[in-house]
Amino acid sequence: MEKIGFIGLGIMGKPMALNLIKAGYPVSILSRSKAADALVSAGAEAFPTSKALAQACDIVITMLPDSPDVKQVVAGAEGVLAGIRPGALFIDMSTIAPATAKSIYDQMQGKGVDALDAPVSGGQVGAEAASLSIMVGGSEAAFERALPVFRAMGKNIVRIGEPGAGQTTKACNQMIVGMTIQAVAEAFALAQKAGVDLEKMREVLLGGFAQSRILDLHGKRMIERNFTPGFKIKLHRKDMGIALQTGQAFSVPLKGTALVADQMQVAIEQGNGDLDHSSLLLLLENE
Ligand code: NAP
Repeated sequence: MEKIGFIGLGIMGKPMALNLIKAGYPVSILSRSKAADALVSAGAEAFPTSKALAQACDIVITMLPDSPDVKQVVAGAEGVLAGIRPGALFIDMSTIAPATAKSIYDQMQGKGVDALDAPVSGGQVGAEAASLSIMVGGSEAAFERALPVFRAMGKNIVRIGEPGAGQTTKACNQMIVGMTIQAVAEAFALAQKAGVDLEKMREVLLGGFAQSRILDLHGKRMIERNFTPGFKIKLHRKDMGIALQTGQAFSVPLKGTALVADQMQVAIEQGNGDLDHSSLLLLLENE
């Protein structure tokens, strides 16, 4: 089996890397990670730098917060590019700008390395259950090589198209998720003020046309007032920014996306950026 280096062991990366180990892959990680001990106990090997990790691996996967983090881990001093071997495969599974994904693809090609952008959807629950949706940009050959690895982490795995296409799809996903959370939050804020039982409302709506995973999972979070992330509102704000930039690049007006991005920005300015994105409800309650 190919040796996999996994960089970024946060809410998503840690369970994804653990699932690779469970599937039998030899996995390497960075010793700087807060989750390093847990991964080493599960069988991973720790390396001091991304360069050293890349030198030892056939496939390097990143699962980092944002475009600047991926750029730094890839091209910074002691970064992946300094160590990765020709013939290796680089897969970024973070959610970043499509333009950054394309530029990283070009940098990797310059080293004789193939690259995929493969962002995911399904959240912490999907990462733990190895049931993520994975949307992939890159060559068919690289996709075929990565497929067994993706199958250890996800279920609904689709090659969308050329480099960057995975990230463009993910930006669209985040628009839909963000606007749906806002819709559920507004409905819940209104129902609450009008004295409607939220649990009963959620139950009946889940059987009708308003049914969605957001109403199901985030509706439950809103009722239970459980805003432990999950998906941090500051990361979703980042994704709405990516969507808005992409909209501008293609002259598509994204009015709902802009409105929800503003709501998320206010939540961050109020000090709630590390709460789950379902906490958009709090803004409506406080207004
Ligand atoms: P997170 O919990 O904040 O984890 C990010 C991890 O990145 C950190 O724990 C840290 O891991 C690592 N990191 C940050 N800067 C680094 C650097 N310079 N070098 C090496 N490692 C660095 O974020 P997350 O929720 O897992 O999200 C990761 C990505 O997945 C984001 O792009 C997010 O938008 C996307 N995503 C998240 C969800 C979700 O529900 N959470 C769902 C779909 C997609 P170490 O401890 O290893 O240092």
